[in-house]
Amino acid sequence: MKKRRWKMIKKQREKSHRLLTHEAAMRRIPKNHSKYPMLEKEHGKLFYGHKGEEAMDYFLTFLPDNEYLILNSLRLEDPKGRYFQMDTVLLSQTHCIIVDSKYINGVLEFDEQANQLLRHLPDNGGIEKLSDPISQMARQRHQLALWFDKHGFPPIPIASLIALTHTSATLIKTTPSIMKKVTFQTNLPNRIKEINGIHTHEKLCKKNLQKLSKLMIKKHTPDKFNLLVNYKIPPQELILGVICTSCTSAPMQKKRSTWYCFKCGASSKVTHLEALLDHKLLLGEIVTNKEIRWFLQLPSPTATSKYLSSLNLRFEGDYKGRKYFLK
Ligand SMILES: [Zn+2]
Repeated sequence: MKKRRWKMIKKQREKSHRLLTHEAAMRRIPKNHSKYPMLEKEHGKLFYGHKGEEAMDYFLTFLPDNEYLILNSLRLEDPKGRYFQMDTVLLSQTHCIIVDSKYINGVLEFDEQANQLLRHLPDNGGIEKLSDPISQMARQRHQLALWFDKHGFPPIPIASLIALTHTSATLIKTTPSIMKKVTFQTNLPNRIKEINGIHTHEKLCKKNLQKLSKLMIKKHTPDKFNLLVNYKIPPQELILGVICTSCTSAPMQKKRSTWYCFKCGASSKVTHLEALLDHKLLLGEIVTNKEIRWFLQLPSPTATSKYLSSLNLRFEGDYKGRKYFLK
């Protein structure tokens, strides 16, 4: 009989709500808007952060099967009501490891005395101070230990690793203590193997390990980010209508079930779904006829009604004040 393989990845990596809202903003905020450069910069940071996490996933595939359960993009609340977000958590019967991806290029120096990460800029461009990932990881280990305790699990040794995921990152002034906490992504499997070798005492039986993994997934609370409030952008300043994916002009116009771009002649049956996603991310998932008519620039309440009912959305309320829930 074939041995049943343990499924390693219990929770897939996902884009954060913050990244998704910034992606929507890149589509919906005009390029000449005063806040656009700020948004673009933050979007870049989030986008490359996610890319770094994905790059790390490749190296985690080199871990032996049946050793770890892997949970990605996990956000939990500690007993004091503080949320903490972990890029990757590896769970085994003897210990657990939090792995944090840092996608930063350049010459990096971890200053353990002053608790900061320094980035040396090229051509004597000076030194940029970044928030310290080592203290961040210490906080996360503490919060996770509190979380285990709150949910009735025994104290499980928690290790952590900072994975440098940018291929052109270099480290200077390292010490053995720093190299215990920081590694390049290519070396992740080796470092994890070392940590695995240290912990031999079983803390959880297989059944409880699965129980722990299930509970962590159940308690995962995605971050919600209100982009327009955060950047103080009034909704009226958004680009309205269904945006043409070929030439990015808006609004496309609807005839029967197809949307047409009058600028470049492209047509599509599905681009309106991206507009609905943008509404959900930037303005919320509950809409009225009036709101969606405005956002998609539809010609009349009747046309909007017909459109909304074609989407088969869940709704509440009578005809006039009806609220629809965007999926
Ligand atoms: Zn077009």
